[in-house]
Amino acid sequence: MNDLLTALAARPLICDGAMGTQLLAKGLAGGECGMLWNAERPEMVRGVHEAYRQAGCDLITTNTFSGTSFALARHGLVARMAELNRAGAQNARQVAGESAWVLGDIGPFGDFLEPLGDMTAEELREIFRQQIAALVEGGADAVLVETMSDPAEVEVAVAAAKECGDLPTITTYAFQKTGDAEFRTMMGTGVEEALERAVAAGASIVGANCGTALAFPDYLELARQLVRAAGKTPVILQPNAGSPQVIGEQMVYCATPAEMEAIVPALLQTGVRIIGGCCGTSPAHLAAMSRSVNACR
Ligand SMILES: [Zn+2]
Repeated sequence: MNDLLTALAARPLICDGAMGTQLLAKGLAGGECGMLWNAERPEMVRGVHEAYRQAGCDLITTNTFSGTSFALARHGLVARMAELNRAGAQNARQVAGESAWVLGDIGPFGDFLEPLGDMTAEELREIFRQQIAALVEGGADAVLVETMSDPAEVEVAVAAAKECGDLPTITTYAFQKTGDAEFRTMMGTGVEEALERAVAAGASIVGANCGTALAFPDYLELARQLVRAAGKTPVILQPNAGSPQVIGEQMVYCATPAEMEAIVPALLQTGVRIIGGCCGTSPAHLAAMSRSVNACR
């Protein structure tokens, strides 16, 4: 597999979309640990990866979002941490082959670092290091540290990735709109500080995913701010399928594939180099977006 950063310098790339909702559609029970399927229903997980690969995605994200030993403890699965992460990377690798990159997915560990919480940076670094080591063993080409709110957690995760070898590390924050053209993470960190700290920590690609109640014009403004704050570092953006609507007790993302396809040229024009999807996106959305990215190449 040739170098991700070299490829990215030559052309924009397309990342994949949501995994959890795809597994739920395949019969995963709400509250069940989706990561268990990496080992016990691998054909289901590979089926989702295959659909995204066929949609034209260059980057395939492992099904390991809540894969730290800290998060797996909620499901009584600490003892299987390495196995489930390794299997997650192997599933993605099997589908990606040598024609796409595998991103080993790391989500927030699920609590606060000191002083807000009890976790020390040193403890968390070891927790992330163990997860990343298993992802690398399973064949991940790069590490994706995503849906982050706390730049300190990003710094710890990037440091942990560096302990596991010379892999590109991609970091993305979840921003919410806090004012006119102003975005902050749940922890209150603005775009500039969030990205500067990720770049200073050594992230190779930086940006945003998910986000609370951002409409497409907001994502466009966010993209401009991300590119400005990232300097020379390539930027990734993985929007949700529009701003969610609350229907009953559910958040429903309603943007159609055609609506998401329509925003791609403007996003690329801001300088964003990798476009993917987050909540509410499906292989159909990514196929439409991929068409648009390819038309802009
Ligand atoms: Zn999301």
